[in-house]
Amino acid sequence: MSRVAYVNGVYRPHREATVHVEDRGFQFADGVYEVWSVFDGRMADFDGHMTRLHRSLNELRIDIPMTRDALTRVLKETIRRNRVRNGIVYLQVTRGTARRDHPFPAPGTPPSVVVTSKSIPFSRSQAQAAKGVAVVTYPDIRWGRCDIKTVGLLPNVLAKQAARDKGAYEAWMVDEMGLITEGSSTNAWIVDQDGKLRTRDTQANILRGITRAAIMDLVKAEGIELDERPFSVDEAKQAKEAFFTAAGAFVMPAISIDGVRIGDGKPGPITTKLRERYLEAARRDAV
Ligand code: PMP
Repeated sequence: MSRVAYVNGVYRPHREATVHVEDRGFQFADGVYEVWSVFDGRMADFDGHMTRLHRSLNELRIDIPMTRDALTRVLKETIRRNRVRNGIVYLQVTRGTARRDHPFPAPGTPPSVVVTSKSIPFSRSQAQAAKGVAVVTYPDIRWGRCDIKTVGLLPNVLAKQAARDKGAYEAWMVDEMGLITEGSSTNAWIVDQDGKLRTRDTQANILRGITRAAIMDLVKAEGIELDERPFSVDEAKQAKEAFFTAAGAFVMPAISIDGVRIGDGKPGPITTKLRERYLEAARRDAV
């Protein structure tokens, strides 16, 4: 089945879909993105991602390219045209195309909008979650506005590749204090030695994960004690359980960090329960 991409108002065959060489996303990473998980053709955590998109655009003073309703229609149509039942839909908005120059282009330069969608078999994620995955640590070398979901992802790319080079699934980034900030494309969590669920607070320089926020709601509903506080690499290695969250990964158990086994080396009970609850809720509320 041939894939289709939406580019600036037109649905095009995926292999022919292009943006201009002077698109500011290409030249300066001057753009933002969002990713929604797709369950049975519907988007999970829809409002959360849409709200964060608007915040990212606002923080960078990129014009809102189209109304929320129009954008929703494009996202749904891209999923439909690609016949995606389970997978993701990806949206990128850049500051548009203009002669290369650092300052913002002339007012009225239209933002570029790209939407793609791809199928990912749900069974793949389930198989990984059943066994759990390896995590490695990597220095957090990013800029000071990681709360904005920009396409400037080079440090994240290097971190993820460092993980792959070591046969691991994810890299957890570490600040100068030896504290974990977040994963290269996920938020990091542990169940510490006292049995408390821990994840870094969002006052820190990290992305406010939408899956993270959804898990917080479930944690409250389940009566699990949560301590929103950073944890060190050593605390992570000594944790009872570890996992990470993101659209696409959902709740993914980590069973080792830098080769050190976490707990008994199997996905833990809190992690497994949160994954199940998250998947139920995400499916139920998808639009
Ligand atoms: N942190 C980073 C750096 C990410 O790139 C992502 C995924 N885009 C996340 C956390 C998880 O965010 P979400 O749950 O909204 O997918």
